[in-house]
Amino acid sequence: MAKCRECASFFNIPESDLDYEKGKGDCVREKQDQKGKFWQAKSVFEADEACADLRPSRKHLKLA
Ligand code: SF4
Repeated sequence: MAKCRECASFFNIPESDLDYEKGKGDCVREKQDQKGKFWQAKSVFEADEACADLRPSRKHLKLA
């Protein structure tokens, strides 16, 4: 199964941040409603199982 670390929406939390924890990151996604676009963020861990909104990051794409 794919993991959040493979997703383009996953961003590691820098060690210098107060909420740093090994493997912890933010899932940041662009959303849109009738008022316009906005960003939605939530905490995830890189080893969490990916959700249905996984966007494969370029560094994890396997080239044929
Ligand atoms: S929760 Fe889904 S969208 Fe967010 S980082 Fe994980 S796989 Fe990507």
